[in-house]
Amino acid sequence: PGDPLNVVAVDCRPAPGTLRLGAVPGLPDAAYEHDGQLTKRQVRAATLAALAPAPGELLWDVGGGSGSVAVEWMRAGTGCRAVSVERDPGRADRIGRNARALGVPGLRVVTGTAPAALDGLEPGLRPPDAVFVGGGLTAPGLLETCWAALPPGGRLVANTVTLESEALLAVWHRRHGGELVRIAVSRAAPVGGFTGWRPAMPVTQWAVTK
Ligand code: SAH
Repeated sequence: PGDPLNVVAVDCRPAPGTLRLGAVPGLPDAAYEHDGQLTKRQVRAATLAALAPAPGELLWDVGGGSGSVAVEWMRAGTGCRAVSVERDPGRADRIGRNARALGVPGLRVVTGTAPAALDGLEPGLRPPDAVFVGGGLTAPGLLETCWAALPPGGRLVANTVTLESEALLAVWHRRHGGELVRIAVSRAAPVGGFTGWRPAMPVTQWAVTK
């Protein structure tokens, strides 16, 4: 009343003790419910940068785990959509819970094993703009199916910590180019009364545009 512009002050500060969620990828790991199968924040930020979501685009998140990559894809812009494919039913449920808790309830979860579960993912609809492979890389035909689903200009990003999958990525990198990088993150942790670096397993990441 009495305010001609009807301006309302909104306090955007989080309540004390509440996790603050920024606008860009790399949310704190603690923002997610997970069982350890979670792409950690620094690697996740690099993964989303390589996936490069734009408004209205569609992601296939293959081997969804806790769903963090799909969640952050959907937070990236208006109309961003994602489908997570996860073979473990308990984890598939968890992806749904994380999506609802983090404000992207439209994230679609498919419980099934890739590549078979990718068949008919978009019956009569559009192909994905990007595909992320976070699990199942060594499943026969998985990379082939993902690559075939991508239109020209589509992006594929695959992360792994195993030598077997890394060997596969080396072959595909040789064949199709793109960027093959290794991301090694260490975290400061208590060592007796002091502090030392605790290394996480290095993640090999292949990112390519078709
Ligand atoms: N990027 C995820 C973590 C992925 S962990 C996150 O940040 O939350 C890898 C997941 O891939 C595991 O949950 C595993 O169950 C799943 N997975 C492995 N092989 C699969 C396959 N062939 N099809 C579907 N899911 C698969």
